[in-house]
Amino acid sequence: MSIATNEHITVEKIKKSKLDQVDFDNLTFGKNFTDYMFECDYKDGKWQNPTIKPYGNLELSPATKVFHYGQAVFEGMKAYKDDQGEVFLFRPEDNFKRINISSKRMAIPEFPREFFFEALHTLVQLDKDWVQPGEGNSLYIRPFAMATEVGVSAAPSDEYKFMIIMAPAQAYYTGDVRVVIAEQFSRSADGGVGFAKAAGNYGAQFYPTNLAREKGFQQVIWTDAKEHKYLEEAGTMNVFFRIGDTLITAPTSDRILDGVTRKSVLKLAEHNGIKAEVRRIQVSELVEAAKNGTLKEIFGAGTAAVISPVSAFSYQETVYDIPKQEDSYAKRFKKELMDIQQNRADDPFGWRYPV
Ligand code: PMP
Repeated sequence: MSIATNEHITVEKIKKSKLDQVDFDNLTFGKNFTDYMFECDYKDGKWQNPTIKPYGNLELSPATKVFHYGQAVFEGMKAYKDDQGEVFLFRPEDNFKRINISSKRMAIPEFPREFFFEALHTLVQLDKDWVQPGEGNSLYIRPFAMATEVGVSAAPSDEYKFMIIMAPAQAYYTGDVRVVIAEQFSRSADGGVGFAKAAGNYGAQFYPTNLAREKGFQQVIWTDAKEHKYLEEAGTMNVFFRIGDTLITAPTSDRILDGVTRKSVLKLAEHNGIKAEVRRIQVSELVEAAKNGTLKEIFGAGTAAVISPVSAFSYQETVYDIPKQEDSYAKRFKKELMDIQQNRADDPFGWRYPV
């Protein structure tokens, strides 16, 4: 293994790429990882030894704190390649800021900006051939941080590991998503960690989501924990409602993740002259709109699927179907976002970040 130093980051070169073992036409999301990964340790009060090395397993003591206390955060972002072979990230500054917001809430030391961006640049350059051009293709990038001190005492760790791994992804079609509105379970609470991408938030969603699946639905629309009265998020996406021609989404709070796709949709709505309201929306308002025919669309917004239309929702044992829209906002936002991400359109807001 040859060792080269790229400014601060040490790069350990692979012997042979795994690229030729990958069937890019039949990718399962998040299952195949690229040749390289980034690793950096927090020890003695500082982040040190940033290293890019061949993707591989970690060796950790069974008493490592992350396994016991779930002190871990992560991010999800994508790189895209245009037809000229140029590679872009989409609004990476937002992911950088968000992982540190998440870390702060989970008592994990914040990660330095220089390391984050240098790691992204170097990794994406090294694994450039893993980013496929073409509609909907991308490289999913997963930065994460975890407590690595050994010891089963419930106190914050004094050692951490920050890593970035990357997986090629194809267009992600969720199909028609049917959702259940949460009446009993919650994903987050006031004063809790809902706004953070804390690992445990996701583990806690699996059981209620499984119950929804057993009933023939794919996702849960989460409501406020206090009264289950207000609509907040859909699965692991922010959620939008179109009533008449107005788009409505909940304001961010300590229960709701400040999604990059959500804020991009709001910006595009403004740009397109579509009326958008950021306000609390009650389940009763949604049910009323479904009954009187003014509910035109519900869609989720998030990095993985970009925009994911909802075809029906269930509430208090009643299923409300949402009629298909000819010229849907969902379709329009998805196209506009993907055109910007993949460099097929102008980028009036400076969202593309060349690497
Ligand atoms: N809400 C939750 C709970 C999520 O996990 C995600 C995915 N990161 C989102 C919303 C969407 O955020 P983004 O658009 O930044 O991917």
